[in-house]
Amino acid sequence: MSSHGLSASEIARKVRAREFSVTEIVIDSLERIGSLDGTLNAMITIERDRALERAAKLDSALASGEGPGPMTGVPVIVKDNMCTRGIPTTCASRILSDWKPPYNAAVVEDLEKAGAVILGKSNMDEFAMGSSTEHSAYGPCRNPWDTTRVPGGSSGGSAAAVAAGYVPIALGSDTGGSIRQPASLCGIYGLKPTYGLISRYGLIAFASSLDQIGPFARTVEDLALSLNVLARPDRKDSTCSSSERPDYLDFLKVGSLSGKKVGIVREFRDYDLHEDISRGVEKVLRILQNAGAVIEEVSLPVTMTSGLGAYYIIAPAEASSNLARYDGVRYGLSEEAEDLLSLYLKTRKAGFGTEVKRRILTGTYVLSSGYYDAYYLTAQKVRQIITREFTEAFSRVHTLIMPTSPSPAFRIGELVDDPIHMYMMDVFTLPVNLAGLPGLSVNGGYTSEGLPVGVQMVGPRWGEGEILSMAGVLERELGPARIAPGGLADEN
Ligand code: GLN
Repeated sequence: MSSHGLSASEIARKVRAREFSVTEIVIDSLERIGSLDGTLNAMITIERDRALERAAKLDSALASGEGPGPMTGVPVIVKDNMCTRGIPTTCASRILSDWKPPYNAAVVEDLEKAGAVILGKSNMDEFAMGSSTEHSAYGPCRNPWDTTRVPGGSSGGSAAAVAAGYVPIALGSDTGGSIRQPASLCGIYGLKPTYGLISRYGLIAFASSLDQIGPFARTVEDLALSLNVLARPDRKDSTCSSSERPDYLDFLKVGSLSGKKVGIVREFRDYDLHEDISRGVEKVLRILQNAGAVIEEVSLPVTMTSGLGAYYIIAPAEASSNLARYDGVRYGLSEEAEDLLSLYLKTRKAGFGTEVKRRILTGTYVLSSGYYDAYYLTAQKVRQIITREFTEAFSRVHTLIMPTSPSPAFRIGELVDDPIHMYMMDVFTLPVNLAGLPGLSVNGGYTSEGLPVGVQMVGPRWGEGEILSMAGVLERELGPARIAPGGLADEN
């Protein structure tokens, strides 16, 4: 019997009941990766030997009666911008292609402590800048629902890996939508937690006031399980909250939504949306309403008109500062040069891809004297207004519903030379990062071409439980996320 397609919670239960050994589970996953990843390219590094060694260790610990952790035997994949000791961590960039971190990210430690087995590192847009996983030094990742299309980005490899059934859980990072948008395009769940819920120690920084780590999964229970494992105070990350976290599985016991108010964001109707996406949003609203929720219209006028502009000033500004450390001296690539200045210039020219260079240029420009007030300061003021608009909305409703992305999966190559159009893919997700709120993408059906459609649920700060409850009610009606059919179709 194969373990393929089981959720993480089921795997952990079956391993505990000794129905499967960890080694059997890990071999099943590695075989699936082996047969599909030549097409999908969701992985940058596969750690076969290490994973099998670890599986054997977990099996002998179980045999000697050691109490299993909540994820014992669960194979997982981690985005390649999270540090793994001794295992390449490239950020999909040439500049870090040979870099092996001397330490583990906090989330990597937490997964292993819970008994999970890390199989490898997933493909992504370079330094998490992008919405398609085409900006990768390791080639584009493909969407398992249609391999001529992108899986979304920047955590496209992790999303494709869960959608194709490599593993039940993978980690991504989300600065402006990089968990939710690929989850939406791949038909699975993707949760960006509240800023400060999960430690970012060992996450390679893109834009530090926006970055958060979160899980992809095919069931709501697996999302809650992931938060139980990952959400904790961490003194190594000063932005990580020191408050106690609840047991997130408790939020799934909710059966009715009576007394709950759900806000529908009016402005999304002004966008040029794919009609199947509007239909997906309506469908989700109907199910929530049937479960007892009251639907109310909510307006976020500044958020929906100026969020994108503010994000594409603030995120590049922070990136230009964070990426200054890749200078050919301290990390990764180092080009031959006669003097220090040419070492910097040659290394950065050869090491960074086009999109990363574009962000560094934009970021440096908006921070330069004479332009700082006009761009960076104005963007910060807009960010304040956006935060206030959300706070006002959450004084009236418990959660907000809107699309995750304006379009389903687009074709590989379609937007790669049109950065502004690519940036538009995050118009509904990035305001949530600007306000530091939790957001979850759930599947709301499929287009007439069979492509998944995502719907976004947004909660107030620390409102993960609230959105998990609603997602649980939805899942009871719609079923868990489906594994993409085959992943090998339409190769061209
Ligand atoms: N697509 C957005 C960007 O390119 C968001 C990326 C992310 O969330 N990491 O900046």
